[in-house]
Amino acid sequence: MLFENSIEFANELDQLDALRSYRDLFHIPKKDGKELAYFCGNSLGLQPKSTRAYIETELKSWEEHAVEGHFEGKHPWMYYHKMFAEPLAKIVGALPHEVVVMNNLSVNLHLMMVSFYKPTPTRFKIIIEGGAFPSDQYAVESQVKFHGFNPDEAIIELIPRAGEYCLQTDDILQCIRDNKESLALVMLGGVNYYTGQVFNMKEISEAAHDAGALVGFDLAHAAGNVDLALHDWNTDFAVWCSYKYLNSGPGGSSGVFVHERWANDSTLPRFAGWWGYEEATRFKMQKGFKPMYGAAGWQLSNAQILPMAAHKASLDIFEKVGMEALVAKTKMLSSYLIFLLEDNFKKTDQTELIIITPLDSHQRGAQISLLTGENGKNLYNKLNSQGIITDWREPNVIRVAPVPLYNTFTDVYRFANTICSEL
Ligand SMILES: *Cc1c(COP(=O)(O)O)cnc(C)c1O
Repeated sequence: MLFENSIEFANELDQLDALRSYRDLFHIPKKDGKELAYFCGNSLGLQPKSTRAYIETELKSWEEHAVEGHFEGKHPWMYYHKMFAEPLAKIVGALPHEVVVMNNLSVNLHLMMVSFYKPTPTRFKIIIEGGAFPSDQYAVESQVKFHGFNPDEAIIELIPRAGEYCLQTDDILQCIRDNKESLALVMLGGVNYYTGQVFNMKEISEAAHDAGALVGFDLAHAAGNVDLALHDWNTDFAVWCSYKYLNSGPGGSSGVFVHERWANDSTLPRFAGWWGYEEATRFKMQKGFKPMYGAAGWQLSNAQILPMAAHKASLDIFEKVGMEALVAKTKMLSSYLIFLLEDNFKKTDQTELIIITPLDSHQRGAQISLLTGENGKNLYNKLNSQGIITDWREPNVIRVAPVPLYNTFTDVYRFANTICSEL
C-alpha cells in the first residue's frame, strides 16, 4: 500500500480498519481529559473493560461457595486452568496438551531449565542473546552455577556484527554449528526486548537439534504479537508472560509450552508439585510423583484464580479476533510508523534517531526501537508530557509498540510527527 504522511490519510486507514471496534473493549487512560496515545502494550497491555467482571465472578464464587468453589460456581477452580490450553495453543502454534498456565515467567524459565538444561562435562554450553533481558541472564547464569559450571565458559553471547544493531540469522546458525561438540541448550527470546527483532525460530530450532542440543524460547515479547508455530518448529520448550501483549494485568500468570515429544518422558529431571500429579488420583495423596501427560505435568501449585480470571477476560478477546487478523494489522501499523518516520527524517537533517528494528517485516512485530543520541531521555520525557506514552530503555532506546487491538493509525501519526517536531 502507498502511504501518505497526513492526518487525513491516517484517519482513512482507521476508517478502513476491520479491527477498529476492538479499541472500545479497552480502558484507554487519559491525560488532561484526552486519551493517551499508549505505545507500551509491549510492557503492560491495557485493561479490557470486561476484566473486572471476570474477577468479580470469582470473588462472588469465593464469597458464596468458599471451599466448594473448587467444584461449584460458574467455572469451578479445580479445572479453571484447563480453559487456557485451547486458546493459548492457537496463539503459540501448539497442541492444547503442550500448553499450561502457571506461576510467573522467570519461575517457569527456571523450571524449564531444570528439565531441559542437562549439562555433562563435555556438553554444557548455552547460547543466549548478548544483552538478553536481565531476568533471563540471571536465570541462565544461576542455572549454570547450580550445575557447577563457570558462566564465563558455559554462556555464549550472540553479538551483532560491528556497526549493526540486530543479529543476522546466518550468524546465529553458524554459532550453533561452531559449538556443536559442547552445546547443551539454545535459549533466546522470540523477539528481542531491546531491538524488537523477531528471530527465525524455525531455523534456530532445527540448527540446535542438528547440533545435538535442545532449544527453548522466552516469548515474553512474542506471545500475542507475532506468528508462532512451536509444535511444527519442534521447539523443546517456551515460556511467556501474559501482561504484555496478552493484556492480562500486572504480574499476571505465565504460560509454558513443552513439546509433545517430551509429554511422557520419564528421563527428564523435573521439580514436581502436587498440581502436576495425575488428576484422577491426585487426592489420594500418595507417595511417588506420577506426572500428568504433557505440559500440565510441570504444574506445582493449585491455580491462581484471580490473575487467571483476568487472563481469561483477555484471551476471550483473542479468541474472537484471531492471530491472523492481529498480525495483519500489526504489520500495517508498524509499516505506517516506519514510513512516517523515514519521510519525516528525509525532510530534516536530523542525526538524533536511528530505527534499529529490522525493516524486513518478517523480522519485526509491533515494536519499533529508536536509538537516540544525547537528547534521547529528554525527547522521551517531552512525548510523555504530551500524552504519548512510549518507554525508555537504558542506555539509549525509545521503544514504541503500536498494538492492533487498541492502537490507531492516528495514534501512530501523532507519535511520528510529535517526535520529529521535538528534534
Ligand atoms: C518481561 C520479561 C520478563 C519478565 O519476567 P517476570 O518473571 O514476568 O517478571 C522476562 N524475560 C523477558 C525476555 C521479558 O521481556
